[in-house]
Amino acid sequence: MDPVTEAELLDVFDGQLPAEAMPDLTVVEWDAHDFLGWIHSAGHLGYMLLLSPNDGHLKGIQFRRFRFSGTGRGIHMCSLCHHMHSGEGTAMFSVSRKGSDGRHRLGNVVCKDLDCSLRIRDLVAPNDYYQEKLNVQAKIWRMQTRVHRWLTRAERL
Ligand SMILES: [Zn+2]
Repeated sequence: MDPVTEAELLDVFDGQLPAEAMPDLTVVEWDAHDFLGWIHSAGHLGYMLLLSPNDGHLKGIQFRRFRFSGTGRGIHMCSLCHHMHSGEGTAMFSVSRKGSDGRHRLGNVVCKDLDCSLRIRDLVAPNDYYQEKLNVQAKIWRMQTRVHRWLTRAERL
């Protein structure tokens, strides 16, 4: 995705992004991102910045994040990038459907740091249980499709 400035980011979130939730944009390798995902420093919220496939504008999404505790064993697959994690590499992210005032939430199991864009490009130290034989373009397409479907159902795009 194209680089985004701090001012643009704040604008997308209508100024509702507290300082503790501000990502360090100076270290982002924008070329390696289909969406930018990051986590609030307290860990309970996640954020996503992406271009809407509908109107081409940047959208900022806030998720609640739940870590799975006490279930360190087992294999969990990210529903967006299909990375297979052993241990605690995933979390449940839920987004409220627009207009539901948080009463209707749609959740998915996703890489705990929302770094799926980096994972499909093998830019995160592989902690792999399973290496999928699929080229990067196909992985990007699949991930984008899944992100868009999720956020469209939540009426956030
Ligand atoms: Zn992922």
